[in-house]
Amino acid sequence: MESISVILPSYNEKENIAKSEAALRKVFETMGMDYELFYVSDGSKDGTFEEIKRVAKENSNVKGVEFSRNFGKEAAIFAGLSLASGDAVIVMDCDLQHPPELIPQMVALWQEGYEVVEGVKSDRGTESIFHRFFANSFYGIMSKLMHMDMRASSDYKLLDRKVVNILAGLQERNTFFRALSFWAGFKSTKIEYEVQDREFGESKWSFRSLVRYAISNVTGFSTAPLHIVTVGGMVSILFSIVLGIQTLIRYIMRDSVEGFTTVILLILLIGGMIMLSLGIIGHYIARIYEEVKGRPRFIIRSSTENLYGNITGEWKK
Ligand code: UDP
Ligand code: MG
Repeated sequence: MESISVILPSYNEKENIAKSEAALRKVFETMGMDYELFYVSDGSKDGTFEEIKRVAKENSNVKGVEFSRNFGKEAAIFAGLSLASGDAVIVMDCDLQHPPELIPQMVALWQEGYEVVEGVKSDRGTESIFHRFFANSFYGIMSKLMHMDMRASSDYKLLDRKVVNILAGLQERNTFFRALSFWAGFKSTKIEYEVQDREFGESKWSFRSLVRYAISNVTGFSTAPLHIVTVGGMVSILFSIVLGIQTLIRYIMRDSVEGFTTVILLILLIGGMIMLSLGIIGHYIARIYEEVKGRPRFIIRSSTENLYGNITGEWKK
């Protein structure tokens, strides 16, 4: 029989473990399908992993691993992708903001032959105007870069085993799950859902972490900023040639003005552009540095007993 794995990245979500387990168990029991709930505790400090172990004792379909520290949601998703065993894998938040009632429809679409089922937000929930503006501009840029409409995309998705194997086999460390499932291609479809309110705890994202996430994802998917640097350089060379010729002519005609203000402004402008360009280039070098080090994307400290004999330390599937 076909089986479905659900990957649930969890960071300080103690209250949400049993709740999400109960909701998902109900969904899968109604559907009469084999399932696995794969919790990844992302270095939680509130006893989330103890809660996962407790729930796993009661329901043998529950499995989980714990990271040695907080590695981020992306790392948690990719740990899940490389360890989950289902014929199809669903990634969802464990705070129940992604409605589990959508799963039967997702699975039905998968059984019809779709290899990727994208959950698409029908509204951006209760986010502030500022947040919404920022998210819209970021996804606007990403959509241009990816040649796909990503504005309403989310991490709530179903992936066929084929797609999971491709994504889990990627070498890069700085991943962006939301866009990688587009990038991989395959036969995909969309399904709309309304983002639910969070019942317990609060969002784990600060504005700063969102900005960092956005910059890292744009540069992770595109070298366009580097080309902008080149174009900026060319424009300022052209400008300086024109200005140089004009100055020379004025010098010969003997009506050169005292351009002190102009000089200061030009130095500031060009200086700023050079610094900005160096920053952009530096960002790419930093990324290369991170990738070249080849450190593991996550470290697993411990796992539930029903998972490959409770492997700790060196991780092998
Ligand atoms: N999460 C995680 N590691 C982190 C931050 C978040 O695994 O460093 C998980 C979190 O437990 C939740 C999901 O990612 O299941 C989404 O996080 P959150 O609800 O805080 O984000 P929001 O819904 O506000 O976008
Ligand atoms: Mg949430």
